Amino acid sequence: DHGLSEADPEVRAIIDKEKGRQFRSLELIASENFTSRAVMEAVGSCLTNKYSEGLPGKRYYGGNEYIDELETLCQQRALAAFHVDGKNWGVNVQPLSGSPANFEVYTAILKPHDRLMGLDLPHGGHLSHGFMTPKRRVSGTSIYFESMPYRLDESTGLVDYDMLEKTAILFRPKLIIAGASAYPRDFDYPRMRKIADAVGAFLMMDMAHISGLVAASVVADPFEYCDIVTTTTHKSLRGPRGGMIFFKKDPVLGVDLESAINNAVFPGLQGGPHNHTIGGLAVCLKHAQSPEFKAYQNKVVSNCGALANRLIELGYKLVSGGSDNHLVLVDLRPLGIDGARAEKILDLASITLNKNSVPGDKSALVPGGIRIGSPAMTTRGFTEKEFAAVADFIHEGVQITLEAKRLVSGSKLQDFMKFVASPDFSLMDKVSD
Ligand code: PLP
Repeated sequence: DHGLSEADPEVRAIIDKEKGRQFRSLELIASENFTSRAVMEAVGSCLTNKYSEGLPGKRYYGGNEYIDELETLCQQRALAAFHVDGKNWGVNVQPLSGSPANFEVYTAILKPHDRLMGLDLPHGGHLSHGFMTPKRRVSGTSIYFESMPYRLDESTGLVDYDMLEKTAILFRPKLIIAGASAYPRDFDYPRMRKIADAVGAFLMMDMAHISGLVAASVVADPFEYCDIVTTTTHKSLRGPRGGMIFFKKDPVLGVDLESAINNAVFPGLQGGPHNHTIGGLAVCLKHAQSPEFKAYQNKVVSNCGALANRLIELGYKLVSGGSDNHLVLVDLRPLGIDGARAEKILDLASITLNKNSVPGDKSALVPGGIRIGSPAMTTRGFTEKEFAAVADFIHEGVQITLEAKRLVSGSKLQDFMKFVASPDFSLMDKVSD
C-alpha cells in the first residue's frame, strides 16, 4: 500500500497547490476556517472504511462496537459543548453537512407543501431556508415546501420582526427559521419564540455560521428559545465538514422530535454515516469545551470589531452599522462599484472574501457588497492590530477597483467587466457558495 505521493502524484500536486494557496492568502470568507491537525488525523483515518447505518446500539451491520463508542462520545460532547442537558435535548451527529441537516429537519416535521419562513437570501439568509426567485424555486426547500421569506428593515439593516410577525399571522407557517449566512447581528430569539407560539409554528435556529460563538457563549444562546437547532461543523466551530441537529426531547406541537428527526436522517435521507467525520467532530467538540476555545472565540469577535471600526473610519457603510459577531457586510454601492469587481481585484492580491448582496440591491444577482469574516485569520494568530491593517488592504483594493473601473470605461475591457458583474456570472458564484 503506497502513500499519496507515490500512488497518485497528480492529486498530491493539486493538494500541495491548494495548501500553498491557503497558506499564502488572507482567508476572510466568513464560513471558512482552518481545522486542527488532530481533527484532520481523525478524518483521514480508518473510520472511513466502516458501514454503520442506524444509531449506537441499533445498527444494521456487525462490527460496530467501536463506532458505537465513538458516536456516543461525539453525541455526549456535542451536548456538553453547547451546555445542554441530555435529559431535555438530544442530538444527531450524522448529517453530512448543513444543507442536508436542514432538509432532514423539514422532512421530519413538515408534510410536502407545508409552509415555512426563513430570512430571504438577498437579505442574508441561506439557500436551504427556502430561497426562490419570482421565476424559479431555486432551493429544494422551496420546491417541496411553500416558502415565504422574511426580510431586513432596509433602513436599519436589522431583521424586521414586525413584518415577520404580520406576515406569519397571515401566512401561518408551520416552521420559522432563525439564522443566516450574512447577518452581522444576533437574532432576537425571545421575539421569534413569541411569533412562533402565536401562530403555532416550530422555531428552528440554523446556527451554522455562529456555532463556535454559541459554544463559547459570546453571542445569545438559541437553545433557550428554539425547539430545534441545526449547524454545520466546519465554520466558526472549526471542525471537519459536517452537520448536526439538536432537538428537544419532549414532544413539541404533538411531534416526537427525537424519532422524527432520527428517522429523517436515516433511513429518510441518508445511508451510512461518515464515521471519519464523526471522529473529527468528536475531537473538535472536546476542544470546543476548553478555555483556549473560549479565548479564540472572544478574539474572533474582538478582531471583527477592530476590522469594522477601521472600515467605518475609512468611510465605509456597513450593513446594520457594525457587527456583534464574526462578520461584517460592507455596502459598496455608495462608491459606485459592486461586490463582484472588488472580490476579483482583491483575489488578485490573495485577499479571499466574497461578494454578497446587501439590503436594497435591485437584484440578488448583482450584489452590491462584500462579506468579510474573522474566524480563519484569527485561527492563524491575527490580532486586532492585523485586522485593522486588513481593513487598510481592503481599502486599497477598493481604490484600485475604482481606478480600474475609471480606466476601462469606454474601452473593450468594459464589456468584460460588464460580464463579471452580470447576473449569470454572479448567480454561478452565489449558488456554489
Ligand atoms: N446554513 C447556513 C446558515 C449556512 O451559511 C450554510 C453554508 O454556508 C449552510 C447552512 C449549508 O451548509 P453546507 O454548505 O455544509 O451544506
